[in-house]
Amino acid sequence: NKQVILKDYVSGFPKESDFYINTNGTMKLKVPEGSIGVVVKNLYLSCDPYMRNRMKKAVAGSYIESFKPGSPISGYGVAKVLDSRHPDFKKGDLVWARTRWEEYSLLTNLVTLNKVLHTDVPLTYHMGILGMPGLTAYAGFYEVCSPMKGEYVFISAASGAVGQLVGQFAKLIGCYVVGSAGSKEKVDLLKSKFRFNEAFNYKEEPDLDAALKRYFPEGIDIYFDNVGGKMLDAVLLNMRVHGRIAVCGMISQYNLHNPEGVHNLYFPEGIDIYFDNVGGKMLDAVLLNMRVHGRIAVCGMISQYNLHNPEGVHNLLHLISKRIRMEGFLVFHYYHLYPKFVEQVLSYIAEGKIVYVEDIAEGLENGPAALIGLFTGRNVGKQIVLVARE
Ligand code: NDP
Repeated sequence: NKQVILKDYVSGFPKESDFYINTNGTMKLKVPEGSIGVVVKNLYLSCDPYMRNRMKKAVAGSYIESFKPGSPISGYGVAKVLDSRHPDFKKGDLVWARTRWEEYSLLTNLVTLNKVLHTDVPLTYHMGILGMPGLTAYAGFYEVCSPMKGEYVFISAASGAVGQLVGQFAKLIGCYVVGSAGSKEKVDLLKSKFRFNEAFNYKEEPDLDAALKRYFPEGIDIYFDNVGGKMLDAVLLNMRVHGRIAVCGMISQYNLHNPEGVHNLYFPEGIDIYFDNVGGKMLDAVLLNMRVHGRIAVCGMISQYNLHNPEGVHNLLHLISKRIRMEGFLVFHYYHLYPKFVEQVLSYIAEGKIVYVEDIAEGLENGPAALIGLFTGRNVGKQIVLVARE
């Protein structure tokens, strides 16, 4: 049973050498007597940015458990049932589930075990457009962004698993949509395949503020943030009154020892409500201590009013004058929307209204390179690892 093993907790950018392939893993292909579960052959595995967080030692408030050094890593996958001791699953069934990065797995966490119901679309879709990234795009866009026809929408990491869908959803309701991505190939894809109005390569823009002003002379209504950091800073300068920022991810910060700007924007614990009158260092410290679903009313930032160069994420000040709603969200809280989401997306696919681009790495042994490629932009579309075709 070939397996992808994490050697130790990772600090900084993950490297291929942080993993090794164990070719001697043992595995009984029968569910042990007395257990309820299934033994599966893993077919496809999903590479997702949140897995970076699992490569670190868990900290208080973490929403997901860490990988165990010396053990196979895990994530979403599609698999075939080889043996079952569960009344709802039988040999030969296709499932999508949380599984381990190995050829064969015993799955006993039944909460995350789902039958593949839609066989008229590629199996891999259950990890992308019909899976967790798809629901993230759907919930993040429709629920968090409160979009309206004609609004100006900007998406970062726009060609990725989540971004490509957000852009297409926005086009479908009649928004003006611009995306940023890290290569010419991705920019071309955004314009030709996903039909964004415009797209640009952020790596070739010396001044992100100027680039955004070029594409949004009247400002941005909705920013779907996948990257955080400098791009967020530049976007804050260009938001329109009553704009909305859905803080989906901050991939530019995940591997940094000292995240940039307002350092703590994605680490909530402790405080439910912060009524901010001062901004600056206090806001920075409060952000370290916010609890899940906390709310910050940005009433004033008096510590910043007389500074030539405001501190931290310099442009947070714009939240006030433009009355922007900036809201973080986690897909896990939107699973109740799953049936509605799948029905909607399947009909869009059938009508040819949306398309989905995937990047499939072949072979479990190429999994680590595919996974860490998310952090260098190697993937073009949703990154998947093919373990076995059937
Ligand atoms: P993608 O398929 O978009 O892959 C990641 C992409 O991020 C890369 O291809 C790269 O594209 C871009 N990227 C990597 N490093 C940087 C950087 N330093 N600066 C800017 N861009 C960078 O991943 P997903 O679509 O799966 O995820 C997108 C975001 O959504 C992530 O931040 C992820 O953590 C988040 N997410 C959040 C969820 C939630 O519940 N809140 C659920 C799922 C995902 P490029 O070439 O364009 O730079």
